[in-house]
Formats: sequence, C-alpha cells, structure tokens
Amino acid sequence: MKKQIWKLIATLGLIAVIFLQFNIKVSPQTQEGSYSLTHPSLTQQLAYVAFLQTIKDDTGNSMDVEKMTIRQSELACMPLYKLKKICEPADFTDQEEKEEPQKKPTVDAIKKKKVALTFDDGPHPKVTERILAVLRQYDIPATFFVIGQNVEKYPQIVQQAADEGHEIANHSWSHRNLTKIPNDQVLVELNQTNEAIYKATGKYPSMYRPPYGATNANVRSLTSMETVMWNVDTLDWKHRTPEKTLAYVKEQVKDNGIILMHDIHSETADALEAVINYLIEQNYEFVTASELLE
Ligand SMILES: [Zn+2]
Repeated sequence: MKKQIWKLIATLGLIAVIFLQFNIKVSPQTQEGSYSLTHPSLTQQLAYVAFLQTIKDDTGNSMDVEKMTIRQSELACMPLYKLKKICEPADFTDQEEKEEPQKKPTVDAIKKKKVALTFDDGPHPKVTERILAVLRQYDIPATFFVIGQNVEKYPQIVQQAADEGHEIANHSWSHRNLTKIPNDQVLVELNQTNEAIYKATGKYPSMYRPPYGATNANVRSLTSMETVMWNVDTLDWKHRTPEKTLAYVKEQVKDNGIILMHDIHSETADALEAVINYLIEQNYEFVTASELLE
C-alpha cells in the first residue's frame, strides 16, 4: 500500500515537472522581453496608439487617432498589425510586423583577398613553358611583362600564354633604364615592344612595367599605357633559391598584392607550386594585374 502511494506521488511529481517545462516552452511571449507582434498586450497596443499621436501629418498637426473608427473596447482585442493598418500614415514603414528574413551572406561578405602573379623579362624558351604548365595545372591567371626582343624570338610562347588566359604587358624592348635615355629612344623601347606583342597575340597591351622600376613624370608622359610596379618583391633573380622566394612571399603578401618574379630563372619555376599552394591556403584569389587595378 505504501509503495503504491509513493509511486503515485512520484508520477504526479513527474507530470508536474513536465507540465512546468512545457508551459515555459509554449508561452515565451508572456516573458519579459519576448514581444509577440500578432498578440500584443493591451498596454503594448495603447503605447502604440500613444506613439501614433506623436506623429505629425503633412500639415504639421498631430494624428487624430480618436477620430478614426476605433473604439477603446475594440482596441483591447485588436491585434497590433491591424491597428497599424488603420492608423499609420502613408509613409510610415512597418518594420515590426514582418519577421526579418534571415539574410544570406552576400558575395561581398565572403570576398577573397586578391593577388596577381607577375613574371618579368621573358619569354624564355624553357622557364616560361614550365611556369605556364604549373599555371595551367592550377587554372590560375598571371601577367607576363615581356621584353620586346624576346617576344620577337619566341612569339609562339607569348601567343600560347595569351591563349591560355594570361595577360601580356610591356617591359621595354631591351631592358634599358627609361629615365636615362632620350625620349625618342623611350618611344622605340615601348612602341616596338607593343608591335611585337600585337604581332604575337593580336592585341596591344594596356600596361607597361619600366625596367628596374625606374620611371618618372617624363617617361609616364610619353605613353598612354598604365605604369604597373609591384608590392611584393621576391628577389628571385638575386638569391635564386625557391625557399627564399616562398619566404619573401609569406613575409610581404597582402590583399591586392602584386608579386614580382622572373620567368627566366629555373629556380623561380621550382618555387612556383609552393608559392601558389601557400596563397591558396591563405584564401587568395588569383587575378591578372589589370583586373587587380580595375
Ligand atoms: Zn625586368
């Protein structure tokens, strides 16, 4: 008998606990701070009407809520969204009525950092081919600042690079310092290279990079092409060590980085996969130099 009583008490207790939990779950709108828009309390509705009375109409007068066809008794049971429909002036935007749909992250919000791989001084019959093969494998675009006299020797490599989606830009005819030669020679350096690029690819370049990064207002005034420098210097031509090329990239790369390398040294081709893998890991998107400067 005693056992049965205890069982009954325990069962009732369990039911009470379940009921209390259920009750809390089904009626969150009764709790402070969780505001139900379709079933506002009378206080909330009256507060809303009081708010409407503070709004001025076009002529500067207060809204005459009482003149509207709402009686106090109706107000008590009228859902807030109906009240708004009756009372709101035309330009009053109703933001509370609808639940805000969850915003999807836009493309901008998850925008990748951008980087441009640039290769100077080619084309080179062996190294440029190797670099193109790696870029093809990763489906990555790059920009080649070519030397005019090399384009004349190996036009098919330049054409292949252009066909594979890479950008071809001008790096002068014979790699002279453009700030130290007369204007007519600067023009020859740039224009002859443009013609060689056009002959190889069917397209004139829109950018040039002055040899040694040496330029000035006079040189710039001689061409309509955009001057493109770099902001990540791998010094690959100097140390010829793939590990160092990667280390300089790691040290200097940032969003909108323009990485300077040279497609005339085999060590640069050796370094390329590691450089690309690092940049992919760091969530960089690869673009051409002109895409970066758009
Ligand atoms: Zn150069």
